[in-house]
Amino acid sequence: MHTGANTTPADPKRAAHEARRERLISEFHRARDAGRPIRLKKATSNLFRDRRRADRASLDVRDFTHVLDVNPAEGWVDVEGMIRYETLVDALLPRRLMPAVVPELKSITVGGAISGGGIESSSFRHGFVHETVLEMDILTGAGEIVICRPDNAHADLFFGFPCSYGALGYCLRARIRTMPTRPFVHLRHQAFSRIESFVAEMMNACRAGRTSDGKPAFIDGTAFSDRSFVLTTGTWSDEAPRTSDYTGDNIYHRSLREKSEDWLTVKDYLWRWDTDWFWCSRAFGAEHPVLRRVYKSLGLLRSTAYWKIKAFLRRSGLFALLRLDRGVEYVIQDVEIQAERAGEFLAFLLREIGILPVWVCPAQGSEGGPRFPLYPTDPSKLYLNFGFWGGVPSEHPPGHFDRLVEAKTIELGGWKSLYSTSYFEPDTFERLYDESRCRSLKQRYDPDKRFPDRYAKCVRTS
Ligand SMILES: Cc1cc2nc3c(=O)[nH]c(=O)nc-3n(C[C@H](O)[C@H](O)[C@H](O)COP(=O)(O)OP(=O)(O)OC[C@H]3O[C@@H](n4cnc5c(N)ncnc54)[C@H](O)[C@@H]3O)c2cc1C
Repeated sequence: MHTGANTTPADPKRAAHEARRERLISEFHRARDAGRPIRLKKATSNLFRDRRRADRASLDVRDFTHVLDVNPAEGWVDVEGMIRYETLVDALLPRRLMPAVVPELKSITVGGAISGGGIESSSFRHGFVHETVLEMDILTGAGEIVICRPDNAHADLFFGFPCSYGALGYCLRARIRTMPTRPFVHLRHQAFSRIESFVAEMMNACRAGRTSDGKPAFIDGTAFSDRSFVLTTGTWSDEAPRTSDYTGDNIYHRSLREKSEDWLTVKDYLWRWDTDWFWCSRAFGAEHPVLRRVYKSLGLLRSTAYWKIKAFLRRSGLFALLRLDRGVEYVIQDVEIQAERAGEFLAFLLREIGILPVWVCPAQGSEGGPRFPLYPTDPSKLYLNFGFWGGVPSEHPPGHFDRLVEAKTIELGGWKSLYSTSYFEPDTFERLYDESRCRSLKQRYDPDKRFPDRYAKCVRTS
């Protein structure tokens, strides 16, 4: 791996990257000349909304998966846009580095996380994934690759990219911040029986972690019921009396209520939620001891396997045939609420939606940091992200519970990710997600509308 800020055209990694860019541009122009709209051809996805099959030319970006440069002194890594965090972590950990924010699912890509608002337990200190980006190369709908930085002629695209979900262009290279690691993460799990004390303690921990010397380095929490909440803080450690392993027989989310402290290698910490897709693997029987052994022997204890099974059931029509959605509404969402109102939102979730457990992850940008118009969280405020993924028994019309969540999010001034089903009316979406800004960026960077319209793509319009 090449190290250092200065790269030359003779650098074989850069030369190969250049060749991939040229191939992609030719592909883009062929599709454009044929007058066809364009979509990405990727090896994996973490989208949860159903996508309509449209006549689109696909842009094959499956080989944009390389690390191009690492600069430990300046604390950044240059990567191709479709590199998975799993690959990136494998490349950085031997150098005792990691990206400042590593989303929990191994197959999430850097470009997907920047465009969709990635988050993890280091986000209370480092912000959302897009807040760790220093510059990007973006393939625009005009067929050009532009370098975007906060201070150059394409700063509008740099700041407008988060929450664009591919409507403005595709990130082919990103320079993102890294941080030094130590070998182990020492976890402490603190139990609470009241929402108010759980949220208050999470806020205290975040305050301490942002002001003190990196302690804790990681914070997240889990609501198991309306009387059982666990706050987990992680601190770096050079030693561990023992380490746990949640990649096989043992199940991480169960450990949160069984142990008050734990030690994981940094790699196992980063992927602690991937083995069981948080807890969603139980829908596939993976928590049953016998089936778990089968899954394990087939190498299927990982989020990508569950996602593929789910996608197959949907695509093949088996999901409908087996009537797996009869009497159930699947609510798969991540919502950010300012910490002061987070207790209210969690109480609503537990009372009205009832999906359990709920993952709670704090995030805050840097004080005085920039704002991203399509992802308008305020960097001076702490947000709590709520992840809830499951089926709700329902006799209501489709989308009833998703709509309740949207209404409550709007009422509390919160923010909903768009990787899953959404029902926002056009005028509400216009206001919340700054569609007029997105349109003016699209006018500049995708005037012929080669890439999908964001509302049409992200919101269920029928
Ligand atoms: C159960 C579940 C739990 C989740 N938990 C978390 C979590 O804890 N933390 C977290 O951060 N996220 C989480 N996510 C959401 C996930 O991060 C987002 O869906 C993310 O956008 C997925 O990225 P991907 O690389 O897999 O992209 P895809 O799923 O392939 O695409 C997502 C969107 O991004 C666009 N896109 C992809 N690559 C690029 C690119 N290079 N340039 C521009 N646009 C691009 C696509 O067009 C698409 O609109 C979760 C999702 C699920 C289903």
